[in-house]
Amino acid sequence: MVKDTKLYDILGVKTDANEKELKKAYFDLSKKWHPDRNPPEKKEECTKKFQEISEAYEILSDPEKRQRYDTGGDPFSQFGGGQNFGFGDIMDAFFGGGGSNRGPRARMRAGQDALIRVELDLAEACFGTDRELNLETAATCEKCSGSGCATGSKPSVCGICKGRGETQQVTRSIIGQVMTSRPCAACQGYGSVISDPCLECSGDGRVRSRKVIPVKIPVGVETGNRIQMSGAGEVGPGGGPAGDLYVEIVEAPHDFLVREGNNLHISIVIPMTSAALGTKVKVETLDGPQEVTIKSGFVSGNTVILKDLGMSKLRGNGRGDLIVHVEVTTPGKLNKEQEELLKSLAKSRGEKGEDVEIHRRGSTHSAGFFGRFRDAFNR
Ligand SMILES: [Zn+2]
Ligand SMILES: [Zn+2]
Repeated sequence: MVKDTKLYDILGVKTDANEKELKKAYFDLSKKWHPDRNPPEKKEECTKKFQEISEAYEILSDPEKRQRYDTGGDPFSQFGGGQNFGFGDIMDAFFGGGGSNRGPRARMRAGQDALIRVELDLAEACFGTDRELNLETAATCEKCSGSGCATGSKPSVCGICKGRGETQQVTRSIIGQVMTSRPCAACQGYGSVISDPCLECSGDGRVRSRKVIPVKIPVGVETGNRIQMSGAGEVGPGGGPAGDLYVEIVEAPHDFLVREGNNLHISIVIPMTSAALGTKVKVETLDGPQEVTIKSGFVSGNTVILKDLGMSKLRGNGRGDLIVHVEVTTPGKLNKEQEELLKSLAKSRGEKGEDVEIHRRGSTHSAGFFGRFRDAFNR
């Protein structure tokens, strides 16, 4: 018969290892593989390994069990094969974890906060709006008013833990006898048992339900702003107080208005003749169509600022501006008549094809590259 040495292999010791060697191997490996000491993504692997190590040590550190294992027997036979060495216990004993003073848990607990995102268009974000949120949430069970018990019944004291909500267990470990407390499995730590649960909520005291919650969106909100609605979140287990609901604003992009803080930007294109002669054009804004005056001799790339037609400011009053970026197009694909007209215009203005003027830095009519350059310097 081939001797089974698996447990020795797990601890990485020889089959004749003494107590001290076993203990050292166990200590070192436990430290190395402890799930709390390793990255979360390795938790599953570590937990399995840690459990293997603990079980191997549990058997090999006990002379009687070790002998039975060495001779091919069941190391736990003396205990009727029923003793279960709890993984949690060794963790508690070894690393000082494990809760004491737990006592029974309250059935009634506070509900969770909830977050819902609401998409607004730019006008709604600017002027505020009223919305109705239709959401699924946990509500108090009306049948049992949150108690979780069938009508006329009450929870009874747990027979296993006698209402303490926890059970004690004495385990042997390398540091001697250790008393560990753990939540009572029979009552999940509540200390009481609902033997006749409400059929509507299966004893949870709450049910899923759809709710319509009105929410007032204030003026001037922007993406990422959150509106807190106290008590509009999920009702807690056992009919506990509801958490809060957070309404997070998400601003939908506008077709032609671009937001930059409290200012808005719009970009328009006008023909060269309008730019030369000056004109009035209408642009669409959040406040409806607005007249924009283009002065004669308007230079492409310059802006016209419409005061107070930007976004509303969230706190305090007032609004940002609407900045109109004006691009001037140069006519192409001229017919004969248009060509003649432009030629006579050039002639009338004394402009020749070879005319060139070099922009000087700081020149006032230069809104192009040097204009921007100048602005950057004067800031
Ligand atoms: Zn119990
Ligand atoms: Zn119920």
